Amino acid sequence: MNIILLGPPGAGKGTQARLMEDRHGMKQLSTGDMLRAAVAAGTETGRRAKTIMDRGELVPDDVVVGIISDRLGQPDVRGGFILDGFPRNTAQAEALDRMLAGKGLKLDAVIEMKVDDEALVGRITGRYTCAKCGKGYHDRFEIPKAAGVCDVCGGTQFNRRADDNEKTVRDRLFVYNAQTAPLVQYYSGRGVLRTIDGMADIAEVTRQIEDVLKGPQRPI
Ligand code: ADP
Ligand code: AMP
Repeated sequence: MNIILLGPPGAGKGTQARLMEDRHGMKQLSTGDMLRAAVAAGTETGRRAKTIMDRGELVPDDVVVGIISDRLGQPDVRGGFILDGFPRNTAQAEALDRMLAGKGLKLDAVIEMKVDDEALVGRITGRYTCAKCGKGYHDRFEIPKAAGVCDVCGGTQFNRRADDNEKTVRDRLFVYNAQTAPLVQYYSGRGVLRTIDGMADIAEVTRQIEDVLKGPQRPI
C-alpha cells in the first residue's frame, strides 16, 4: 500500500512510519530525514536547506519535489511507501499527483493524525533519537528499557534536533496550520482521507492505523 501520514510536527508520523516499515515492509519516505542527511553530508542542497529548517520554514518546493521524485523512481518503493512530511502544501500535493500518475503509482490512503498544539510542544521538546540507528525516544513517553542504552542497537549516543526547541516548534506549528492543514480538504474531497486520534498512546495509534489499512480503500 501507498499512504501519506499527514499531521503536524510531533504528531507521531515518524514513530508510526517506522513501526509500519517493520510490520508491512513499506518504505518510510521522510523529506525531513532526507534533508537532515543532506545537511549532515554538507551537500549544496543541505547548505541551502539548513538555515530554512532552523527557522522552521518550508524548504522550496522544487527541492523537496525533486528529492521525492528521485526516491519514487527507485525499485524498493514498489512494495509500498509511507510519505512522512510530504506533501506540505497544495503545490507539493499537485506535484505528487503528477509524479504518481507518471510512474503508474496510486495512493491508497491519507491518514490524518490529530493532536492538540500543547501536546505537540511537549512531544517535540522531549524528543531524541539514537545516533547509531535512528530509533526515536521521548523523555517521558518513550524511554529506553535500560537508561542511556538504545533498545534496538545498544547504542549509547543520542541526538536532539536543532529545530526541536519551543520557539521553532511554535513557528513550525504556525507554518503547518497555514500551509499544510489545507491538505485535509484537498484529500477529503478526493475520498482518501482517514482521520485518527493521534492523542492516544503509541500502541493505540498503531491499532487505529492498522484498522485503516485493513478497511476498504478506493485508491486515487
Ligand atoms: P513526527 O514524525 O510527526 O514529527 P515523532 O514520531 O518524531 O513525530 O514523535 C514526536 C515525539 O513524540 C517522539 O519523541 C515520540 O517518541 C513521541 N510520540 C510519538 N507518538 C506518541 C504518542 N502517541 N504519545 C506520546 N508520545 C508520542
Ligand atoms: P520534519 O522532519 O518533517 O519535521 O521536517 C523538518 C524541516 O524540514 C521542516 O521544518 C522544513 O524546514 C523541512 N521540510 C521537511 N519536509 C518538507 C517539505 N515537504 N517541504 C518543505 N520543507 C520541508
